[in-house]
Formats: sequence, C-alpha cells, structure tokens
Amino acid sequence: MITLHQVSKSFGSYEAIKSVSLTINRGEIYGIIGPSGAGKSTLLRLMNVLEKPDSGEVEVNGQLLTSLTPAELRRARQSIGMIFQHFHLLSNKTVHDNVAVSLELTGFPRKQRRARVMECLAFVGLEHAASKYPAQLSGGQKQRVAIARALANSPQVLLCDEPTSSLDSSTTAEVLQVLQKINQTLDVTVVIVSHELDVIKSICQRVAVVDDGFIYDTIINEPTGIQF
Ligand code: ADP
Ligand code: ADP
Repeated sequence: MITLHQVSKSFGSYEAIKSVSLTINRGEIYGIIGPSGAGKSTLLRLMNVLEKPDSGEVEVNGQLLTSLTPAELRRARQSIGMIFQHFHLLSNKTVHDNVAVSLELTGFPRKQRRARVMECLAFVGLEHAASKYPAQLSGGQKQRVAIARALANSPQVLLCDEPTSSLDSSTTAEVLQVLQKINQTLDVTVVIVSHELDVIKSICQRVAVVDDGFIYDTIINEPTGIQF
C-alpha cells in the first residue's frame, strides 16, 4: 500500500531522512514515534511527496509517486488524505465550506457536494456544527472537521501529523476513536506521527521508532485501547 525504497531527504546540508525503506500494509494503523526533530514529519510528508525525495522511490496504492508528472501527482494525492497538528482550517469559512473546499478542488459533481459534506460531517459526529465557524469549536471538534475534509474524496490512505498534540486527554480520545473507526469501517490505511507514546500504543498495530533520520526499530504493538 505504501512503500518507501531507500528514500533520502536533505534540507541544505542537513540530512533529515537517511536512506529509509519501509512498507505499510493495506488496512494497517501504523505509528511513527520519536523525539522532536527526529524526522517524523518529513518522513510522513515524503509519503505523499509533499517533500520531494533527493533519491529513492515512493509507491502508494500501486502508483510510483516519484515518477509522476505534477498533474498525475495531484490526481494520485486525491486518494491520500492528510491532517495536521494545527488543523489548517480556513477561519473565514463555515465548517460545511471547509469540507466542501476539498470537493471543489477535485471537481466533485456540484449537485452532490452538500450531501457528501453532510455525510462526512455525520461520520465524525458534527452534522449539527455545519454552519459554525472554526473559532466556535473546541480543538477536538476542529480536528474532526479536518478529518471530515480529508475523507471527502474517499481516500485509501490517511496521513496524520501529530493529530492530537494540540489536544487535551479527553479530546485526544475523541479524535483517536474517529481514526480507529475510519480504519475499521472505511478500510482506510492510517499512518500516525506522534511524539506521545500513549497515543501510539493505544491504536497502532506496528510502530516505527525514528531518530536522527533513521528507523531504528519496527515494533509489533498489541493496541492497549483508547483510555485517556
Ligand atoms: P519531527 O517531525 O520528528 O519533529 P521534522 O521532520 O519536522 O522532525 O524535522 C526533522 C529535521 O529537519 C529538523 O531538524 C527540522 O528542523 C528539519 N526540517 C524540517 N523541515 C525543514 C525545512 N522545510 N527546511 C529546513 N529544515 C527542515
Ligand atoms: P503543523 O504542526 O501544522 O504541521 P509545523 O509547525 O509542524 O506545522 O510546521 C509546518 C512547516 O514548517 C512544514 O512545512 C515544515 O516542513 C516546516 N519546517 C519545519 N522545520 C523547519 C525548519 N527548521 N526550517 C524551515 N521549515 C521548517
């Protein structure tokens, strides 16, 4: 489903990712853990080529992303959703319109947009908030809107960059429950970057331990369940 083959990435003379290879299977919840500055976020951003590798290959959903033209890459990215620590919602748009934006960008049929937006908001438990603005929501609700936006185009993969690092423990549980439900009911492969061991241990089945641009170990984890 996701394969990185000897991928390297430098920023100037700083080698942030050093010839990393990994395979993430379809349907997995895969964790990436390590200290701040380890290269976790860069590794995640290499998986949808938001960071272009200096060398090596990235394959997702059977497509070699590193060999695509920019137009082909844009199309391939429709099946790769992403969420961030700081949500990245548009503050001047309603919850509904934040989710609708991703459908507009991909040319989803106009007449079906509202129904699709409401379906995604219902999935994350926020239909009632459709006409609110992000500033009126809690952190956990904002992240659930970002998840609804990421789901709108029916991705096969969801990349999560520190999805709970801005949240308190009860809203962390709320967001992890939604991520688990996406994995189980929509058969979406989920990749979670976090520096929080409890978050990773709660729902991830395999965990890469990253430091200094390397994967030091890959651990099989028996998820502890969501208890925060
Ligand atoms: P982590 O997610 O584990 O905290 P990052 O992948 O964000 O680590 O960063 C790894 C290293 O690469 C850090 O030293 C960071 O400062 C550096 N880095 C990340 N992105 C950039 C960039 N766009 N330009 C320069 N340096 C960067
Ligand atoms: P978010 O938490 O919303 O994901 P971050 O605060 O992690 O946002 O950082 C987002 C951006 O900053 C990324 O594009 C990352 O590549 C860039 N970045 C991180 N470290 C550095 C750095 N040392 N120099 C330049 N850019 C960096």
